[in-house]
Amino acid sequence: MAEKFKNLINGIWKDSTSGNTFENRNPAKWKEDLIGIFPSSSKEDTDEAVAAAKAAFEKWRLIPAPKRGDILKLVGDKMNERKDEIAHEMTREMGKVFAETKGDVQEGIDTAYYAASEGRRLFGYNAPSELPDKMNLSFRTPIGVGGFITPWNFPMAIPTWKLFPALVCGNTCVFKPAELTPKTASTLVEIIDSSIKEILGKNYIPGVINIVHGKGRIVGEAMISNPDVDLISFTGSTEVGMRINQVAGGSLKRVSLELGGKNAQIVMNDANQELALDAVLWGAFGTTGQRCTATSRLILHKDIHDEFLNKLTDRVNKLKLGYGNDKDIDVGPCVSESQRESVDMYVKIGIKEDKAKLVCGGEFAKEDDLSKGWFYKPTIFSEVKPGMRIEQEEIFGPVLSVIKCNDLDDAIKILNDTKYGLSSSIFTNNVNNAFKAVRDIKAGITYINGATIGAEAHMPFGGVKQTGNGHREGGWTVYDFYTEWKAVYVDYSGKLQRAQIDNY
Ligand code: NAD
Repeated sequence: MAEKFKNLINGIWKDSTSGNTFENRNPAKWKEDLIGIFPSSSKEDTDEAVAAAKAAFEKWRLIPAPKRGDILKLVGDKMNERKDEIAHEMTREMGKVFAETKGDVQEGIDTAYYAASEGRRLFGYNAPSELPDKMNLSFRTPIGVGGFITPWNFPMAIPTWKLFPALVCGNTCVFKPAELTPKTASTLVEIIDSSIKEILGKNYIPGVINIVHGKGRIVGEAMISNPDVDLISFTGSTEVGMRINQVAGGSLKRVSLELGGKNAQIVMNDANQELALDAVLWGAFGTTGQRCTATSRLILHKDIHDEFLNKLTDRVNKLKLGYGNDKDIDVGPCVSESQRESVDMYVKIGIKEDKAKLVCGGEFAKEDDLSKGWFYKPTIFSEVKPGMRIEQEEIFGPVLSVIKCNDLDDAIKILNDTKYGLSSSIFTNNVNNAFKAVRDIKAGITYINGATIGAEAHMPFGGVKQTGNGHREGGWTVYDFYTEWKAVYVDYSGKLQRAQIDNY
């Protein structure tokens, strides 16, 4: 019997009102491994969770921020204790290899400890008054109910980037995780809720954290159109993000969008080639290429193009595919059948429409146990030209497009020529090239001699152009999204003083 999971609404774990459910299965062993049954929730369930969060906000906002920080500290400790167990289940749920899912949990732990300490900062600013005997202060206040919608590729890290700062700032949360990773999300919410209980004891506030499982177009839509939701934080595809911006922005909710990417790594003719090879393997084929920061384009200087491509093809052909909880596996499956179909569709576009050269991969991997899951062979296209569809559109799978460039200016022009701008990388041993790249690459993140992936929890994370709407997660920057500024003027002159009038 598969385990049955529930929603958490107003402190109570419960089924959806309709009783509808959906299955969660292992993408590496689809038929044989049913992980759990989850509630397929309705608008009514979502509205109930929003109402609970709204009521909880009036109490939660009054808990001192350092106390809220203590709760986040306990959350981090519990995640740390359960790190291997959570990572193992995450690999089972979405397929990336165990070392990577452990990294995903660690990012959540780092974010918890950062949020815990922020409870003792949340600094405001003071400024002098233009009038005598008057004091000007400004400080951060919480906003209200947050709606959180997340994807499946970083099922622990991404929700923590949102929920932890939101909570420590005094907001309450309704969380709708991706349908493909509901178990990791449930574990996270159970840890948060039990930590609130332990720290607040008899003063426990139900409804601070709520989780509503289900479909984006039902639960997600109900959340973005509910007038009692004050802010929406979304990570996912650009297409859905645009829809959320229209609906939620239409009622002036605060909206943070972290969307797609088409990231590139440049390798110059003066680069350390072995280092650049390690990086592109990790950037393009880690998480089976299903990262928003994945390296999906490799821009090679013409002098080293052929040699580098040969070495890379050799290395890619040696990558070991399999179930990510087994030993020595490099690449797991695609997350679902439809994701694998989408990858295959792009490979066919690359061959037929773009007429790029298929160097390796380009088909389902079906040998032995691989036939049980949604495995796709790591794929390289060469002779890719700027503007081709496989060079422009986000594939979100183990497919790398290799493009030849003439010099640094040419490389940066190719890198910048997409609608996205999340991550980027350049390998060069020439300091002038490196700094020109930092200045001219249009992306939220640039690595010098590093892969396009590997953001650290205390640094700003996000992208430019159609990768987002200008907000940043991570570090100190995310705290601007989860708070309102309040300006306070204290006049102790004992008379009415008129700014801009009495002093000029
Ligand atoms: P997706 O957009 O299909 O789904 C993301 C979430 O939105 C899911 O929870 C889904 O149920 C929900 N959703 C779907 N339709 C909705 C609607 N109409 N209203 C409200 N919610 C709705 O994305 P995905 O397939 O889960 O994830 C892959 C995408 O996420 C890629 O494009 C990737 O680049 C992007 N991503 C971006 C970042 C980043 O930080 N920039 C990080 C990870 C993933």
